Amino acid sequence: MEKVIKLSQIKKAAQEAYDETKSLTGGKNANYIPYLANIDSNLFGLSVTLLDGTCINLGDTEYKFGIESVSKVPTAILAMIQHTPKGVLEKIGADATGLPFNSIFALLLENDHPSTPLVNAGAISACSMVAPQGDSKDKWTAIVNNITELCGSAPQLIDELYMSETATNFNNHAIAWLLKNYNRIYDDVDMSLDLYTRQCSLGITSSQLAIMGATIANKGLNPVTKLQIFDEEIAPKITSMIASVGFYQHTGDWLFTSGIPAKTGVGGGVMGVMPGLFGIAAFAPPLDDAGNSVKAQAAIKAFMNKLELGIFKGDTVKIIND
Ligand code: GLU
Repeated sequence: MEKVIKLSQIKKAAQEAYDETKSLTGGKNANYIPYLANIDSNLFGLSVTLLDGTCINLGDTEYKFGIESVSKVPTAILAMIQHTPKGVLEKIGADATGLPFNSIFALLLENDHPSTPLVNAGAISACSMVAPQGDSKDKWTAIVNNITELCGSAPQLIDELYMSETATNFNNHAIAWLLKNYNRIYDDVDMSLDLYTRQCSLGITSSQLAIMGATIANKGLNPVTKLQIFDEEIAPKITSMIASVGFYQHTGDWLFTSGIPAKTGVGGGVMGVMPGLFGIAAFAPPLDDAGNSVKAQAAIKAFMNKLELGIFKGDTVKIIND
């Protein structure tokens, strides 16, 4: 079916989705990272970026929160830019684990294979793949520059979050050393884990994440800066990874109910990619039992349902200005 949606309908759907989910309660801030436990749990923002560069921002969309696991997406893209999608598939994989983000069991079950760059094991592995090998400073610059290009503006390291995570990431140490044991880490172990921890501690806004989502939805062309950030062929690859594991063990339920591939982070952010149409992001700190923001999920679902959109619907959708 050919579906035509007016810009005014999109703005209205975003406003209604925001208003209806604003007062939702439920969930609690991530408490295993001390910094995150203390963030104001009432913060809430919803951002949509269309492929013509139109940005819709409602609520706390300029608040810089911890990007956390949403950072796995840009670094997976960077690894694909530097090593091709095939290289990432061979060295890390692209499978869903069906298990929590920090599962050691998944690593053991998958027979020494990290599965996907969008869970902790694969993300640490992806950081180890970032060029130039052996140079922490230049690797970090590459990671941050890539995020900056995808968003059209720079993220900012939250030092307190970085220190908080570094002091408590014992589980991730175990994952990193298991990866080393299985020859799935491609640079110094401690350096790779540190880069992963640091990228998770970057402060980002929902308006920046919506632009990143839109850049992926737009086949690598940032719709705001109009710069081509990555090769077209990477867009369906990263979107398939987001679709298959973006919500960890709740990914199937999420896709079934929302119809949009999206990636979450324990900082409360969710970034969605609607190929050929828009990027969307929401942020609210309280999380469900799998580490996914309760309010951000509700807001994005409400937006999708109001516009009757869904990646599996098979509709050809056109957005027009009115
Ligand atoms: N830095 C967090 C960790 O490694 C990220 C987890 C997440 O956002 O899912 O535990």
